[in-house]
Amino acid sequence: MSARADAATSSGADAAAQAARRRSFAVISHPDAGKSTLTEALALHARVISEAGAVHGKAGRQGVVSDWMEMERARGISITSAALQFSYRDAVVNLLDTPGHADFSEDTYRVLSAVDSAVMLLDAAKGLEPQTLKLFDVCRHRGIPVITFINKWDRPGRDALALCDEVSERIGLTPMPLTWPVGVAGHFQGVVEAGDGSFTRYARTAGGATVAAEDRLPAQRAEAEVGADYTAAVEELELVTASGGEFDADRYLAGSATPVLFGAAVSNFGVRHLLDLLVELAPRPLPRPDVAGAPRPLEAEFSAFVFKVQTGMDPAHRDQVAFARVCSGVFERGMVVTNATTKRPFATKYAHQVFGQERSTVDTAYPGDVVGLVNATALRVGDTLYAGKPAVRFPGLPSFAPAHFAVARPADLSKAKQFRKGVEQLSSEGVVQVLTSDLRGDAAPVFAAVGPMQFEVAAHRMRHEFHSPVKLDRLPYSTVRRLADPAQRALVDAGRSSEVLTRADGTDLALFEDDISMRVLQRRHPELALEPLVAAGD
Ligand code: GDP
Repeated sequence: MSARADAATSSGADAAAQAARRRSFAVISHPDAGKSTLTEALALHARVISEAGAVHGKAGRQGVVSDWMEMERARGISITSAALQFSYRDAVVNLLDTPGHADFSEDTYRVLSAVDSAVMLLDAAKGLEPQTLKLFDVCRHRGIPVITFINKWDRPGRDALALCDEVSERIGLTPMPLTWPVGVAGHFQGVVEAGDGSFTRYARTAGGATVAAEDRLPAQRAEAEVGADYTAAVEELELVTASGGEFDADRYLAGSATPVLFGAAVSNFGVRHLLDLLVELAPRPLPRPDVAGAPRPLEAEFSAFVFKVQTGMDPAHRDQVAFARVCSGVFERGMVVTNATTKRPFATKYAHQVFGQERSTVDTAYPGDVVGLVNATALRVGDTLYAGKPAVRFPGLPSFAPAHFAVARPADLSKAKQFRKGVEQLSSEGVVQVLTSDLRGDAAPVFAAVGPMQFEVAAHRMRHEFHSPVKLDRLPYSTVRRLADPAQRALVDAGRSSEVLTRADGTDLALFEDDISMRVLQRRHPELALEPLVAAGD
């Protein structure tokens, strides 16, 4: 074997071995459930930062605010989304951040295309909330296994059994509790573990800033020392376990059941259980199928796909960072890779790891890791990057059913050219979906978004980057379906409160003011073929 081939094989083996250590996941939750708090607690446990607060810099905590964050603040939005990497035991954990604002955007969904598993974080007082449900649907659709963490157990909330029932009834996942709370919410004493009945005592730590030493008792001692509350918890846990909730790793991996943990992120309680579970159970990166469906071996040469592009972090340089998830091989900073879409080379001179306000240079990355490629103006969401030969291309990222629509027009008609260029760019980056129809003509395309904040981002960029301020007029549509047969377009266009618009990917979307107007039209034209919009591209 030649020296070169030798080197290639050893780096392939390296990639596979490193991939086996990776756990790349995201937290799905409704705003305020405690995602930032949990992120800090996880990082603190893994000792990437010395004091909780350094990641997000929330009010009252420490945190350095960079220019980039300042700008986001000035815009009044947070569009940051990247990955926090830390090691825990023998594993390397990548926690991919999902935007934390109350609005919902396609970025949040796209992050889920880059993870291997998810943690569903519930507020003990609220249970399943709307955004958790939406994100969970994406996980289900993509076959992403979910661990459930029921947070805020330190204060009064709902009953543990009722919360488990809700998970089972509303989303059809069988809860498999691995810990169970001892003492009712608000008078939390600790958790009992499903395996050996051991008891971990709840301790409130000052501001959540330190990892307290754990006070853990074996079952027998817990019975004697904690008493009735412990016994009651064991009985409840047995009840859930006996009624189909016995732990089964295969059912978790298959997406039909979810391990459940109870805790209080603010006191770092339950966080160790969660980390252990992630390391022991959560799936590692697997070979990713290419467009033809053939899995790309982890040992193959470097490949990755771009799941997020962020522009304007530094307004002076109009820089653009593309976040790519490594799928195979070893990424080395400086390597020249090929963009499968354009067939053009791309030099990875500036590669960063970005999370919150922190940026550090990445020199090497393995399958499951995220690299932020700076000055990546040529890269688009969904692009595949690869090194060597043969070429590889991964499926594009799905477009999601939009829920908000607005007609866009140039505020200044003399800027029509800039307007067109900007709209094209925003569409190709996936900032908003751009819809058109012959009836409306090219001059007034319709912007469609999963969350209304996408409109703000689009308007901001049209003004500052393309120098063509836009006027956005909202359209009253709220129900959207795929029109299966283009020949039926006229039926929908003739409706009083409906029309068909075509998305840049060629999909015909039938838009209705509400469910009723859709049903009325369907009754009148039973032959009308409307399909629910599943994530296209899957
Ligand atoms: P996010 O919007 O999901 O990122 O939520 P945050 O992490 O910002 O938390 C929202 C609020 O809930 C904050 O006031 C937190 O201090 C609080 N919180 C988070 N975790 C816990 C917990 O375990 N117990 C209690 N009592 N409060 C918590």
